[in-house]
Amino acid sequence: MNIGVDSEINYETVLVRDIIRINQPLIGREEIDAVTEVLKSGILTEKSGMGPRVLDFEKEFARYVDAKHAVALTSGTAALHAALLVAGIKQGDEVVVPSFTFHSTAEVVLLCGAQPVFADIDPETYTVTADTIESAITRNTKAIMPVHLYGLPADLDPVRKLARERGLTLIEDAAQAHGAEYNGSKIGSIGDMTCFSFYAGKNMTTGEGGMVTTNDDDYSDKLRMVRSHGEQRPYWPTTVGNNYRMNEILAAIGLVQLRKLPSFLERRKKNAQFLSERCGMLGKVIPPKEPKGRKHAWYVYTLRLRGANAGKRNKVIEKLRSKNIEATVYYESPLHMLPLYRELSTTRRPLPETEKACRQVFSLPVHPRLDEGELEHIFETLKRVLT
Ligand SMILES: *Cc1c(COP(=O)(O)O)cnc(C)c1O
Repeated sequence: MNIGVDSEINYETVLVRDIIRINQPLIGREEIDAVTEVLKSGILTEKSGMGPRVLDFEKEFARYVDAKHAVALTSGTAALHAALLVAGIKQGDEVVVPSFTFHSTAEVVLLCGAQPVFADIDPETYTVTADTIESAITRNTKAIMPVHLYGLPADLDPVRKLARERGLTLIEDAAQAHGAEYNGSKIGSIGDMTCFSFYAGKNMTTGEGGMVTTNDDDYSDKLRMVRSHGEQRPYWPTTVGNNYRMNEILAAIGLVQLRKLPSFLERRKKNAQFLSERCGMLGKVIPPKEPKGRKHAWYVYTLRLRGANAGKRNKVIEKLRSKNIEATVYYESPLHMLPLYRELSTTRRPLPETEKACRQVFSLPVHPRLDEGELEHIFETLKRVLT
């Protein structure tokens, strides 16, 4: 089946279209051929993690985001964990993270034996800001980890300035933000380290996979060590690492997906525009914002119910789902209110904007598989549900 996102690419894939998924990978003939080639080549992985396709994927990814280095790993979580390890995060340290995110962002801090400290969000963009981060900083803070939630970059200039002034490492969680831009720079070229995920539902995928980009030679060398048991040379560990090596099969898929990424993002943007033009007139929802200077990657299309409707969010989701639209809430519970983090984090302050957003937001699909008929169905259903 060719769904024609880009006429040069043949999207010959199997897909059961009984339900409109919140996100769906687009795998075509090129990915299948690339995997076959790896299997025929006999090189499936290399002990250093630096097989030929991994090195190519890293080089092309670094070029795409305009960073000096890219280091491929097994997942976005591995990328975040490795970045914290090379930043020297250890027991007794604190790392400022949002509470309004996928819990992997905070989990990796615990894996380092450190404390996640939660910062509130800006209600318009759902991202942490320099102000909210600053109020969470203590003398134990070593790093800050903004998340470019739903694909929209956080306001990075003030965050970077704050990190410099306080001597903190800036690690960005860009698991949802491949191809997003901030003041003309690609996400991945700005902070000390930026972490991406290639999980199946993300803007580009290798099934599972991750990448850290950095302009710092020392971080790059250390990331390569950490992803292969902290070895400086074979069987000579000089730091604690893990087996976080990406294999050749995944890198081959990643190379093809990276080439397709611009066409995927173009389609996501068009789909988001389609919904925004119509949702803007509904009056009952607040459509997502794209502030000046920021380019959204449209991982999902996230709305907030306005005024009196705010309490009906779960009803709205239920009705959309009954019409085969996989509307989803990212995220139902703030991390600081989850039992695990209530026990393990020292954050005790309320985070009012985070808590409100968790009650009011819901996300609709804008992935590149959607056709105009499906977008029409999504909007018309939403309109009916709200009136
Ligand atoms: C997906 C995601 C991750 C984790 O990536 P994995 O590849 O699934 O390990 C981390 N942070 C955010 C914000 C994500 O969306």
